[in-house]
Amino acid sequence: MKPAYHSANDFGFGRHMISRAALDVVRGLQEAGFDGYLVGGCVRDLLLDRRPKDFDVTTNATPEQVRRIFRRARIIGRRFRLVHVRHGREVVEVATYRANPAATRASLLPWKNSRPRSAPRTTEEGRLLDDNVYGSMEDDALRRDFTVNAIYYDPLEERIVDFLGGVRDIRAQRLCLIGKPAERFAEDPVRMLRVVRFKAKLGLEPERGLMKAVGRHRSLLSSVPPARLFDEVLKLFHHAHGVASWEELRTSGFADILFPRTVAVLDAPGGERWETLVLRALENTDRRISQNKPVIAAFLYAVLLWRPFGLELETAGRGAANHSEWVWQAGDRVFAEQCRQVAVPRRISSQAIEIWQLQGSLERRRPRSVQPMLDNKRFRAAYDFLLLRASIGEIPQELAAWWTRIQNLGPREREETIRQLSGTDPNPGKRGRRRRPRRRPAVRQASGQKVG
Ligand code: ATP
Ligand code: MG
Repeated sequence: MKPAYHSANDFGFGRHMISRAALDVVRGLQEAGFDGYLVGGCVRDLLLDRRPKDFDVTTNATPEQVRRIFRRARIIGRRFRLVHVRHGREVVEVATYRANPAATRASLLPWKNSRPRSAPRTTEEGRLLDDNVYGSMEDDALRRDFTVNAIYYDPLEERIVDFLGGVRDIRAQRLCLIGKPAERFAEDPVRMLRVVRFKAKLGLEPERGLMKAVGRHRSLLSSVPPARLFDEVLKLFHHAHGVASWEELRTSGFADILFPRTVAVLDAPGGERWETLVLRALENTDRRISQNKPVIAAFLYAVLLWRPFGLELETAGRGAANHSEWVWQAGDRVFAEQCRQVAVPRRISSQAIEIWQLQGSLERRRPRSVQPMLDNKRFRAAYDFLLLRASIGEIPQELAAWWTRIQNLGPREREETIRQLSGTDPNPGKRGRRRRPRRRPAVRQASGQKVG
């Protein structure tokens, strides 16, 4: 297959837009007599006039050969062996050209005799278990997911190499899958989520029939190991297009597979309010990301699983020794179930449960715990969460406003405001319970009633 060649300058970009590290790695490879190209998301983003977030390099050198060229290089990965080349603070990922295993090659390139290779290991559904079969540059283009992700750029020659019409598709703002959907989605169902992501993030229009094919093969996603889905899901929500991604996940039905308990709540009577909570949270996240402010995965999961967690508390009864344990047990159960679809690392689920747990203290406003709360390392996230809940009317706006105000007061005024709390009862009618705070449930549900 003959590739099309273009000059990068014709598209208004050049090597000055590439990181020093990536450029040095490409140069190192070429000086050692190998190919060195940028490929994938970075080239696509440059062609779309967007700033790439990282630069991936590809080459015909094997991982061992790459490691020998660079002083600070390390081979990583088992399923997919890559080399990480360290350059100052940056790490450049270098991948060796790979081929699509023999089984699918024939159908991708019907006019070409595929060279016999050892049969790839797949699951019964045809999901690839390893893809470390090295190949030519052309093979490498064919094993990628979309034509727009299979464009190669040599920044030293300022030359673009395009085997599959990716440049044309970028011009037409079109997302075209390489090969047949049935096979490519069976090999790796995550590609369907990537359709959703690139549609939401880049505004590319899926080619005719692609969304239908995604719908037809949707259930394949359940066979993907949960550990692989965590990163891919986070990419959907943490790139300033979370709202669009969520809407796409809902209409395509992936939300049901990825977040079954969340969707059960949203689709039940009264679920609109909880969907609003999710959408507001994603709007905030999108805004924060566009302003280069930090976001945390725990917040996203705290939002998605908040109502399922509330229901878990309501139905679970009170077996635990104290309130805190009760919250943790319910939280753990909700996350254990979520982890059957998307493996959320323990560090992140713990942070989410802490955010939930602090909601009770924020609502109670006990004078003695106000200052420790403000000093708590999770305060910011818990407070943001409280604001969201107030915005959907789950808790009084006044409560959220109080926490906003207290943060902005000087020490003396703050003390005075806290002292005033002792005279008022934030929970009229429940005064008698105050003496037994440890046993008292903190989490308030939408009905406004305390649980337990
Ligand atoms: P982003 O800018 O969001 O990182 P990306 O396209 O660079 O988008 P990566 O996950 O970094 O996404 O993947 C890099 C490249 O590897 C892709 O552009 C594509 O060519 C290839 N690729 C990634 N995932 C798959 C997959 N599941 N199947 C086939 N090719 C893939
Ligand atoms: Mg990338």
